[in-house]
Amino acid sequence: MIDRMAHERMSTEHFDVLVVGAGLSGIGAGYHLQEKCPNRSYAILEARESIGGTWDLFRYPGIRSDSDMYTLGYSFRPWTGAKAIADGPSILEYVRQTAKDSGIDRNIRFHHRVKRAQWSTADSQWTVEAERGPSQETVRFTCNFLLMCSGYYDYAQGYTPDFPGTEHYQGRIVHPQKWTDDVDYVGKRVVVIGSGATAVTLVPSMAATAAHVTMLQRSPSYILSLPAQDPIANGLRRILPSKLAYAITRWKNVVLTMLVFQLSRRRPEWIKKLIHKGVRAALGPDYDVDQHFKPRYNPWDQRMCLVPDGDLFRSIREGRVSVVTDHIETFTEKGLKLKSGAELEADVIVTATGLNLLAMGGMQVSVDGRPIDLSKTLSYKGMMLSGVPNLASAIGYTNASWTLKCDLTCEYVCRLLNYMDKNGFQQCVPRNDDPSITELPLIDFSSGYVQRSIGKFPKQGSKRPWKLYQNYALDIVTLKFGSVNDAMVFS
Ligand SMILES: Cc1cc2nc3c(=O)[nH]c(=O)nc-3n(C[C@H](O)[C@H](O)[C@H](O)COP(=O)(O)OP(=O)(O)OC[C@H]3O[C@@H](n4cnc5c(N)ncnc54)[C@H](O)[C@@H]3O)c2cc1C
Repeated sequence: MIDRMAHERMSTEHFDVLVVGAGLSGIGAGYHLQEKCPNRSYAILEARESIGGTWDLFRYPGIRSDSDMYTLGYSFRPWTGAKAIADGPSILEYVRQTAKDSGIDRNIRFHHRVKRAQWSTADSQWTVEAERGPSQETVRFTCNFLLMCSGYYDYAQGYTPDFPGTEHYQGRIVHPQKWTDDVDYVGKRVVVIGSGATAVTLVPSMAATAAHVTMLQRSPSYILSLPAQDPIANGLRRILPSKLAYAITRWKNVVLTMLVFQLSRRRPEWIKKLIHKGVRAALGPDYDVDQHFKPRYNPWDQRMCLVPDGDLFRSIREGRVSVVTDHIETFTEKGLKLKSGAELEADVIVTATGLNLLAMGGMQVSVDGRPIDLSKTLSYKGMMLSGVPNLASAIGYTNASWTLKCDLTCEYVCRLLNYMDKNGFQQCVPRNDDPSITELPLIDFSSGYVQRSIGKFPKQGSKRPWKLYQNYALDIVTLKFGSVNDAMVFS
């Protein structure tokens, strides 16, 4: 009874739009809302104490982007750093400065973890409940439109397989998502378990001061070396206005990335050979490239790893890093025993074994009292959900920079809001009335982290507007210029 009375007394603030998350996409959303829907009030609810999301959370050595900043940067704010593949702190500064320069930071409510969103058709609004601060008191907001910018993985915990024998190990085990300044590896023997983007970033960086680093992988990934600095981008910036130089470089990189992706899907053998040749050239004729750098899948069946200026290959050549392709039998007192019988001794073991995917930042969604099971919904244009009114999510590309899609999504949401304003609509809900549409998984990657969780995510459909093309050029046509009312019911 007391609980209920407290609940009723709880003050409720109203905004036209609520954004969840103050990472790269949440700050982008704030910018687009201010620019395109200046009459709509908005607030950003952020669970953590700071701006930046991914780029504030991850603190491991060498943390950097693995796509170029001319496409990972916002469409509206040129990336002016000298490096195309940028370090985490520079990206964080870019996001923070964007928030500060546009006054977006004034609209952020930190320490607000959104737990629930309940849609009422009668009131045409969401009631959003968040836990505030360390006391986790429940606070309530209402809004007409909810824009999720909560990323795609669980901030609480990264993924670590259930390795046997960890209790016997005498050294330190650390997951990159939980890195702290006191992880001491200077002059020590390090094993990094993993072969993904995080592992290939960490390994050369730790090797700079560790006694030796071993990258232990179950199976190899495709690794592509690219120049950390883009000479064309830096040259253009010297002779052209910053915005024009940025736009040209952005398009150059969009086209190149799309070309590599399309060729990987259509001519996988050709791309395989090209990558193999690059690794061979970097590691020399005697290195066992086939064992350590020849994946069993086709290029872009999983996200490709990128190493700036071949830093990983250089550290292997210099003998500071070795790669072992094997399976872990068990942790031992001194390190790891492998299935082949070999043993690896280590003072520090880093489990670069991935993320746990999480949809909607773990928020529970209900519509008119009916809980929504996300896996039973269809994704609409890669941003909204069938049967769920006035809600969109900014989810980036898997085969290109995240922000390219998030920028388009936020602009589209603004267009949709303005269309509703103009026509006096309060509600919009995507509805699939086409029985010929079949359901497919949202992402078709074979990576473990995708396969582990994709069943809990919305599906995509076999046809427009339910199909995810993961194609920026096509999305520009559809989302920037296409109609906002296909398969959408307004009221
Ligand atoms: C190490 C690493 C490197 C990456 N490098 C690249 C790259 O080079 N290129 C690329 O395209 N992509 C990359 N990605 C993907 C990357 O996450 C995106 O590029 C981008 O930073 C995501 O931004 P976001 O704002 O959508 O999500 P996030 O950065 O994850 O931010 C989400 C925000 O939402 C908040 N939040 C979540 N749930 C709630 C809730 N329930 N209530 C309130 N707040 C909540 C979080 O606290 C966080 O601040 C990388 C990812 C990782 C982990």
